[in-house]
Amino acid sequence: MRLYLIIIFILNSFCISAQRVCDMDNYEKHNFQLQVAGRDPQSPDGIPPRDTSVNEIITIPVVIHVLFNNEAQNISDAQVLSQIDVLNRDFRMLNTDKADVPAVFKSRAADARIMFCLAQVDPEGRPTTGILRRYTKLPVFMVADDMKFKSKGGSDAWDSRNYLNIWVCAMFGRTMGYATPPGGDPLKDGVVISPDVFGDKGRVRGDFNKGRTATHEIGHWLGLRHIWGDDDCGDDGIWDTPKQMSYNFGCPTFPRVSYCSVDNNGDMYMNFMDLTNDACMNMFSNGQKSKMRSQFALGKPRNSFLRSYRCDGSLASGAPLPQDTLPLPAVKKVDPVSIFPNPVLTEVTVQAKEDETLIGKTAVVYNNTGTVMLSCVLQSKKAVIPMNKLLPGIYILKIGAAADQKVFKLVKM
Ligand code: ZN
Ligand code: CA
Repeated sequence: MRLYLIIIFILNSFCISAQRVCDMDNYEKHNFQLQVAGRDPQSPDGIPPRDTSVNEIITIPVVIHVLFNNEAQNISDAQVLSQIDVLNRDFRMLNTDKADVPAVFKSRAADARIMFCLAQVDPEGRPTTGILRRYTKLPVFMVADDMKFKSKGGSDAWDSRNYLNIWVCAMFGRTMGYATPPGGDPLKDGVVISPDVFGDKGRVRGDFNKGRTATHEIGHWLGLRHIWGDDDCGDDGIWDTPKQMSYNFGCPTFPRVSYCSVDNNGDMYMNFMDLTNDACMNMFSNGQKSKMRSQFALGKPRNSFLRSYRCDGSLASGAPLPQDTLPLPAVKKVDPVSIFPNPVLTEVTVQAKEDETLIGKTAVVYNNTGTVMLSCVLQSKKAVIPMNKLLPGIYILKIGAAADQKVFKLVKM
């Protein structure tokens, strides 16, 4: 099974790089087991169960496990908060891009009336920020669910009857995230998201920079399937999402019709449960809303959340637990400027990370006796320096001047 997963991951990694990858289907097939026996999901804290009331706003306490091996993975509190904000817009239909829902689908777009808070009370009743930071020796998690166990380099779940656990960590291949559907192993229950697609601020990338990966995965966590039913003209079990041939990616234009479309309106590719770009997905449907909310009904797997008080910090007592009990090594600062390749064949690329700017700085290449061989003023954050005229040997590249000068040793082949 492990080998199979790795093969899938490798296949994934050769796909078009701009495509969303949700590992849900693969995860569910190979790792997920519905658990009927085991803990009673109905009675965390001994508060008597109750049913949902019509249209009540359900608020879910969230604990974020930030697992980092380097500075880039240790995302900021602001980035974490931006994700909570995105969820509260998307699940309340307060997202401004709902204006982009095509007219024919507008009446199907739904306010799910589900909200999220960073947990304010930890499992022992102490105050918490709801953000746990844990250094891990693993630069990337190779095996599904390892991030959910401290013994495997991850962080143990908080009681999944009271908290939605979200692990933010790097995963092998291009997997951006996956979720456990309702009713599984409580120790693995929750959502896993890659740090570079988490939230809409900070270190988020390209087409997946609006926090919709978590919206999508939490949709799975609340029992939604992919809109195409993971099959050719498959069924997602939702009455108001039209049948669609397969998944969409990128940013399609309306209408997107195929041989299995039920009418000329075609696919609901702007649904959060398709695989389109973050900027191009903007709705849950009424049917999806009903399906998600049904998980909270009496006797259903998410019912316990109706009795979780973990969003209310006034109910916490004592001192917060120290952030991390693992030894935290000094986090290595990421080089603000990188060069590649080195050794050099014909040219070397200089690239600035984050806020560091190269524009207007002078790059000078010296030979091993200190003679200037090349000099150029950089015009962008990513610049190419031609090396094809230089003989093989060792050179020194200096970028900028004075205190923030960067010096590199280059090997010319
Ligand atoms: Zn998915
Ligand atoms: Ca449907």
